[in-house]
Amino acid sequence: MAMFDGKTALVTGSGAGIGRATALKFAAEGASVVVSDIHVQAGEETVSMIHSAGGKAMFQHADVSNAEEVAALVAGAVDQYGRLDCAVNNAGIEGTIAPLADQTEANYDAIMRINAKGTYLCLQAEIRYMLQSGGGTIVNLASVAGLIGFPGLSPYVASKHAVIGMTRNAALEYGKAGIRVNAVCPGGIDTRMLDSLASQATAGAQTSSQMMDPLHPLGRIGTPEEVANLIVWLSSPEATFMLGAIVPVDGGYVAQ
Ligand code: NAD
Repeated sequence: MAMFDGKTALVTGSGAGIGRATALKFAAEGASVVVSDIHVQAGEETVSMIHSAGGKAMFQHADVSNAEEVAALVAGAVDQYGRLDCAVNNAGIEGTIAPLADQTEANYDAIMRINAKGTYLCLQAEIRYMLQSGGGTIVNLASVAGLIGFPGLSPYVASKHAVIGMTRNAALEYGKAGIRVNAVCPGGIDTRMLDSLASQATAGAQTSSQMMDPLHPLGRIGTPEEVANLIVWLSSPEATFMLGAIVPVDGGYVAQ
């Protein structure tokens, strides 16, 4: 019997990158997976990948910064599969790189709306359901940028520090109710987001691997699957004493 047989897992932003790898891993471990994204085609592709591998999945569109869509997402997951056991609040954006004094209000608002408020709205909807159902697990996607600063990324850094704060608070408020909330802090991971950051930082002169590999003590950036492994473990019955943990998965980045 697989570890998540009979369980339902919801992953926001699972049309690509870390979210997609997490959805695939949950499905491979037996979960019924609710794939959600603002990009319908990308999300449906993830569902097709899961179906091709013999897993169970459905797609539901939701913009995590919209409270009504987030509430409908949790309700839809429960309607379809009868329960929600694990949630991963992964959807996020990187925005544009500029020193703080040159950042625009629009960039700040967009990043905070999706990364910080989006995580907050997802936590609310998931916790409201899990309080009724008797518990569950939630993993938030923070970042090494939630632990330390990165010049040029002040709104993103602020949003990820916020994710860490709300992870700790939710853990303290709901641990006794059987809801385990934790966060992961990836270093540079080989996805579209890192490509965008590298391309902005080097004006297209370097790939994310060329720019970021040497900055990691392991000598390379990570894969989405290496983050998915940690997320799924934190969501599993092997991690029942993990609560309010902020776990780096970063090739040694914050050990420096
Ligand atoms: P990505 O850009 O490859 O994928 C993000 C997904 O989120 C996309 O499918 C996108 O359509 C979706 N999305 C964006 N806005 C959304 C919204 N409002 N509602 C729903 N879905 C939305 O990014 P990724 O690298 O896989 O990042 C996933 C998470 O991991 C993010 O929270 C990111 O901040 C975090 N992270 C990434 C890295 C990295 O190096 N890639 C490092 C640390 C943390």
